Amino acid sequence: MLAERVKKIKPSPTLAIDSKAKAMKASGIDVISFGVGEPDFDTPENIKEAAAKAMREGFTKYTAVGGIDPLKDAIVEKLKKDNGLSYKREEIIVSCGAKHSLYNIAQALYGPGDEVIIPSPYWVSYPDQVLLNDATPVIVKTFEADSFMLKPEALEAAITNKTKALILNSPSNPTGMIYDRKTLEAIAGLAEKHGFFVVSDEIYEKLVYDGKEHISIASIGSGAMARCIVVNGLSKSHAMTGWRIGYAAGPADIIKAMTNIQSQSTSNPTSISQKAALEALTGPQEFVSTIRAEFDKRRRYLVQELNTIEGITCGMPAGAFYAFPNTKRLYGRKFGDRVIAGSTDLALYLLEEAKVALVHGAAFGDDDYLRLSYATSMEDITRGLARIREALGNLRP
Ligand code: PMP
Ligand code: GLU
Repeated sequence: MLAERVKKIKPSPTLAIDSKAKAMKASGIDVISFGVGEPDFDTPENIKEAAAKAMREGFTKYTAVGGIDPLKDAIVEKLKKDNGLSYKREEIIVSCGAKHSLYNIAQALYGPGDEVIIPSPYWVSYPDQVLLNDATPVIVKTFEADSFMLKPEALEAAITNKTKALILNSPSNPTGMIYDRKTLEAIAGLAEKHGFFVVSDEIYEKLVYDGKEHISIASIGSGAMARCIVVNGLSKSHAMTGWRIGYAAGPADIIKAMTNIQSQSTSNPTSISQKAALEALTGPQEFVSTIRAEFDKRRRYLVQELNTIEGITCGMPAGAFYAFPNTKRLYGRKFGDRVIAGSTDLALYLLEEAKVALVHGAAFGDDDYLRLSYATSMEDITRGLARIREALGNLRP
């Protein structure tokens, strides 16, 4: 009955775990969630007020499909100021979340016979969005010893004459890795040489720590910019996950195709949310540094504590809000008759026995790890760690 393409995909595992944790909470179980990557902070008041004002003033109708001009102009300004990128208004599209921008890109660019290179560990939606468009995801493994950065040699080895695009995510969900300039230059060089596109998901750009710098691969040079589609949004930087606003910047013909797709699917992003996004981009930015400082505190604490738990090692993530501990040494251990064979078993064990929700590394293409989002309160982090420590201590060889 269903179309073939639907049979190739699964629900987003991160959203599925969040639903399960929420259902457990609703039934009275005290679940501590390190599951979904969603800031625990409320959207700032000035942004909410901009939305309320929009409603009061009757800004509640359809808008231009790809977003209102003042918002596109604010995005142009942002890309210039933060990333050193000069785009024109017609090179910008506003969508219903960065995920929707990524989906529009997939629809506009990928088709049967195309290969799309995705470094693993990857964010859960990349391979499935490729599959939904009848193209083939080509997964290239990255390694903790290389800080999970895609090595240009590994990329080059995966390139074929069918390679249509590479999806990069810096800072990375789930590893927190940030690409350095040298690697980005090499990758941009390969994109130009072989003529593929680089989809650069920069949604965590504001969450970088230890004085590190986020570099957009599109800023490497004009050749790189011509091959890049930059994706960003407000979900993470301004705690606006539910407002569903994201955007993309890239060559005008691709943006136009994406806008046509949007005009036949969602129409415009929500009018009220667009006004809120305009305020988020043009209003005071203190909120961003406040949450960054808070995430940084949690990051240090969580990673330090994880490293004191037997069987776990965890590198210090440079950005985003995820810890990605290596849990391989725990595999093969038992709880009664139950054998923990891999990350899926381990995450399920921790959910059922410790009432702690987190995401199995297998969901991101690497079974040796678990992902913990620290976009949750310090109190929950402390309580959750105690539960994890106890539950893992109960495993037997
Ligand atoms: N890219 C990455 C890497 C993410 O973690 C997320 C979070 N859901 C998104 C894109 C999409 O964000 P949104 O659709 O909420 O803008
Ligand atoms: N990006 C978040 C995560 O990875 C939100 C969930 C999702 O959109 O899949 O947890």
